[in-house]
Amino acid sequence: MSVKIHRKIEMVDLVSQYENIKVEVDAAINEVIQGSRFINGPAVKEFQSDLEKYLSVKHVIPCANGTDALQIAMMALGLKQGDEVITANFTFAATVETIAFLGLVPVLVDVDADTFNIDLKEIEKAITPKTKAIIPVHLFGQCADMEKIQMLAKKHNLYVIEDTAQAIGADYIFSDGSKKKAGTIGNIGTTSFFPSKNLGAYGDGGALYTNDDELAKQCRMIVNHGQSVQYHYEILGVNSRLDSIQAAILKVKLKYLDKYAAARNKAAAYYDKAFSRETKIKTPVRAKNSSHVFHQYTLTLNGVDRNKLKEHLASKEIPAMIYYPVALHSQPAYHHKINDEKKYPVTDKLCACVISLPMHTELDDDTLKYISDSVLEFCNK
Ligand SMILES: *Cc1c(COP(=O)(O)O)cnc(C)c1O
Repeated sequence: MSVKIHRKIEMVDLVSQYENIKVEVDAAINEVIQGSRFINGPAVKEFQSDLEKYLSVKHVIPCANGTDALQIAMMALGLKQGDEVITANFTFAATVETIAFLGLVPVLVDVDADTFNIDLKEIEKAITPKTKAIIPVHLFGQCADMEKIQMLAKKHNLYVIEDTAQAIGADYIFSDGSKKKAGTIGNIGTTSFFPSKNLGAYGDGGALYTNDDELAKQCRMIVNHGQSVQYHYEILGVNSRLDSIQAAILKVKLKYLDKYAAARNKAAAYYDKAFSRETKIKTPVRAKNSSHVFHQYTLTLNGVDRNKLKEHLASKEIPAMIYYPVALHSQPAYHHKINDEKKYPVTDKLCACVISLPMHTELDDDTLKYISDSVLEFCNK
C-alpha cells in the first residue's frame, strides 16, 4: 500500500497523547512529589472540584477504580443481600461482578442491536417486587435512554446507578432539548480512569458522582473505611482512594477531554464514510438522545469471517479487539447466579459478530485510510 504509516498502530495510543501534553503532565507529577502528599493531597481536591464543574454535579467522590465505584455506590444505597439489580448482559464484567460480590442478585437483560445499550422493554419485563436498582451502562461512549429509565425507576421506586466508565463527558439530550452529562441523571454515577478510558490516568482510578448530599456523605465515608472523623468508624467501609499523582495527571487531562472527544468523533466520521457503501459492515448507530464520545468504534459484521478479518488486519500490523466475545450469562463466574432460562438473542449475536477498530485521540487521516482500506480489502476478497 502506498500510504506511509510512521508509527505502530495501537488500539489506544497513549504515548503519542502524552508527548503532546508532556510538559504539563511532568510538571504536575513533579509538584506532587515535591509536596509529598501522596494520599488525599491538594491535587485530589483540585481535580475533584474541576470535575464537579465540568459535569455540573454537586459532588464528585474520587476512588481507586471504576469497579470499586460500582461497589461503593451499591453499599451507599444500602442494598441488601437478595435484592435484585437489573443491568445489561452486554458489558464489561465489573458491573455484574460487584452485584454478585455484595450478595445481590444480578438480573441481566438484553440490549438494543443498534445502540448496544440496555433495552427498555427488557428492563420492564425483568422488574419484580425484589428489584431495587437498575444499572444502565453507557456502552462504548453513548448514553442509554435515561429519560425512560428514570420514568421506569420512579414508577417502581428503584434506584438508578449509571455506569459511565465508557462515556465520561457524553451529553444526554432530554426530549425538551436540555442536556445533562452522563452519570449525573440517576441517583448516582460511577466512572473509571483506567488508562485506556476516555479520561485515563497513568494507573488505576475512579469516581462517583451525585447531586444527593446524604448519598455523597455515605460514599465519602465508605471510600475511607467508613470513618466520619479519623478513627471513628460509623459504617462498614473499604479503602478506595485516588492517589495524588493520578489526580494531578487527570486534572491536566480533564482540560483536554472535550478536544479528545472531538478527535474521536472525527476519526469515527472518517470510518463511517469509508464503510458507508459496504453492505457487510454496519457502522455504529448514533442514539438520538445522546452525544457520542467514541470510547470504542465498533462494527457489526454481516457475512464476514471475524477471526479471518482479525488475522488479516494483524498481518498488516493493525490491532482490532472483540468487545465482548462472551456474554456475561455464559461466564462460569456468574452463570450459576443468573436465571439461565432466559434468552439473550441480541447479546449472543453481538458477541459473535462485533469488532472494534483502533480508536483514540491521535489518529491521522493516513492511518485511518490504511485501516479502513485494509478492512474493505478483506470484505471484497
Ligand atoms: C472499565 C469499566 C469498568 C471498571 O473500571 P476499572 O477502573 O477497570 O475497575 C466498569 N464498567 C465498565 C462498563 C467499564 O468499561
